[in-house]
Amino acid sequence: MRTWIQSCRKNHDACNWDLESFLPSRLLDLQAFQTGQDVKLVSLRTEDFDDQQFQPEYVTLSHCWGPPENRPVTTTKANLKDRMNRISIDELSNTFRDAVRITRELGERYLWIDSLCIIQDDGDDWAREAALMAKIYGQSFCTLAALDSKDSTEGCRLVSDIQNIGNFLEFDSGDSKNDRFSYRIRIFEDEPREWHEEYGDNPYRHRDYGNHPLRTRAWTLQERELSRRNIHFGKDQMLWECRELKASTQLPWHHKKPEDDFEQWPIRNQLFEDLAPGGSVQMRDRWYGLVEDYSFRRLTNETDKLPALSGLAQNFQHAVPQAEYLAGIWSTHLPAALLWRTRYTARRPMSYIAPTWSWASIVGNITYESQRLIDTGGRFEERPQESHFDCDFGNLSVERISTRPKHNDKYGAILSASLSLNGALLTNIDSNPQLWRLEHDYHGGCQANLTKDGVVVGMFYLDVLDEMPYTKELFCLKIRAEPHTSQVSRPSELFEGEVGDLVMGLVLTKEIGNGIHVSNQYSRIGLARWVTMSLFESSRPSTVTLL
Ligand SMILES: [Zn+2]
Repeated sequence: MRTWIQSCRKNHDACNWDLESFLPSRLLDLQAFQTGQDVKLVSLRTEDFDDQQFQPEYVTLSHCWGPPENRPVTTTKANLKDRMNRISIDELSNTFRDAVRITRELGERYLWIDSLCIIQDDGDDWAREAALMAKIYGQSFCTLAALDSKDSTEGCRLVSDIQNIGNFLEFDSGDSKNDRFSYRIRIFEDEPREWHEEYGDNPYRHRDYGNHPLRTRAWTLQERELSRRNIHFGKDQMLWECRELKASTQLPWHHKKPEDDFEQWPIRNQLFEDLAPGGSVQMRDRWYGLVEDYSFRRLTNETDKLPALSGLAQNFQHAVPQAEYLAGIWSTHLPAALLWRTRYTARRPMSYIAPTWSWASIVGNITYESQRLIDTGGRFEERPQESHFDCDFGNLSVERISTRPKHNDKYGAILSASLSLNGALLTNIDSNPQLWRLEHDYHGGCQANLTKDGVVVGMFYLDVLDEMPYTKELFCLKIRAEPHTSQVSRPSELFEGEVGDLVMGLVLTKEIGNGIHVSNQYSRIGLARWVTMSLFESSRPSTVTLL
C-alpha cells in the first residue's frame, strides 16, 4: 500500500493537480494520545495552518453500515462532547479499528468516517456535511474501501497471505541500481484475475455487476468515484485504484490499459460531435454508465435517491458547465437522455422522488442500452457518412423545464419537476395485455407489442409492471430515429421495413388530477422502440408537459 501511494504521489500528475486546502468539519485524530490506541474527534480549520504545504491530510473510509443490530458506533448530539474528548479503541467495530491501524501505518494522522464525523441525529449537520461529500472524498488523501464487508463488524479483511491467490515465481531483472531500468517479473501458475473481475464493475463483460457488499450500496458509488485514490479490500486480494493506475495484490504494477477499462461504443447524435477521449460524447456516455451502475445499488432510505448521487453530480457539473441538472438528467443530454428503460422488474418509490421522465423515479435497474451502438472494432474510428450517424430528432424541441429543489441544494432531493416538449404525438395506440411478455434474460424487463387499429406498429417496454395500462389511453411521443447499428436487435415480429423508417419514443398516459384529465399533462409509463415512422406523418405538433 505504501509503495502504491508513494509512487502515485511522485509520478502521477493526474492524481495530484487539483488539491485544495479543505478539511471536513470533524476528523478523528489518531495521534491524540501519547500512549495507547485511543482516538478522538477534532475540529480543525484550514486557516489554522498558514502554510499550504503543511495542510493536514486525511484518509477516508467507505464501508457498509449493515443491519440495525450491527450498526457502527456513531456520534450524536448527546455524545459529541465525549467523542471530542476521547474514543476508546475498544468501542470501535472491527472495520473502524482496521481503518485506524492502516491509516496509522501509512503514516497519516487523521481519518474521516461518516458515522463518527457527522452528528447523526442532527438534520442540519447531516445536510451540510452530505452537501460537502464531493470535497470530503475528492480532497481525501486516500479512501480505504471495505469492499467485501457487509457490516462494520467484519473488518477490512486484510489479506495476509498473497499465496491464497495462486502460486507464482518472482524475480528481479534489469538494472537493480537504477529504478527506471529495473523490473520485477511474476510468473503465475494460473492466469491472474482481472481487476474488473475482482471488483465486479463491468456488467457487459461479466453479465452483471459484482456482488461485493460495498458495491451494492448506493452511497458508496460517489465515495469511490470522487476519491483520487482507493484501496479496495476484496475477498481474496487488495485492489488499488487511482486516476492513472489500477493494480492488485497479484499484479501490483499493472498499468491501466484500455482493455481493462472497458468503454462503451460511444453514440453521437450529430456527425460533428467530438468522439475524443474526455470529450462531450464520452462524458455523456460516462454519465449514462454511472447512472446505470447507481440504479443497481440499494438505499436504506428510498428518498436518498438523488441526495446519495449529489456529490457526484456536483463534481460532474465541471465537465458540463452549460448544463442544468434535472432530477438525475443533464439538460444538454436531452432529449436522448429520456430514452432509458428498466431491466428486470422495477417499481415506483413509496413517496415522490423524481418526475416520471427521470430514471430516478424508478426503484430498480435501468439501462441506456437504446443509446448504444454495436462496437464494430476500433473505438474512436470515424465511420462512413452513410451509416446515419446523424440522429434525427425531427422537429422535437424542449420548451420548458423546471425543477423545485427540496432544500437549497439543486443536486439534492426535489419537490416537483416538469418538462415540456413539442413534437409529434401519436394518439389512439394500444397494447394487447395478452401479448405481454416478461423477459428474465440479460435484456430483461416487461415488453409488449404496441398496436394501432389492431396492427403491430412497435415495441413497448413498460417502466413498471403494475402500471399495465388496461384501460388507459396511450400516446407515443416521437423522440428520435432508430440507429442502424443498435446494440439491441430488433424483435423478429418487427422485421418488416427499413430501420431508417423506424423511431423510438416515450409511451405516455394522461396525468389524472382529482379524477379528471389535465390537459397536456402526461406521465411516462415506458419506452417505445421500432415504431413505424410514417404513423407520425399525420400528427400535428403538440406540446406535452411531462410530470
Ligand atoms: Zn495515481
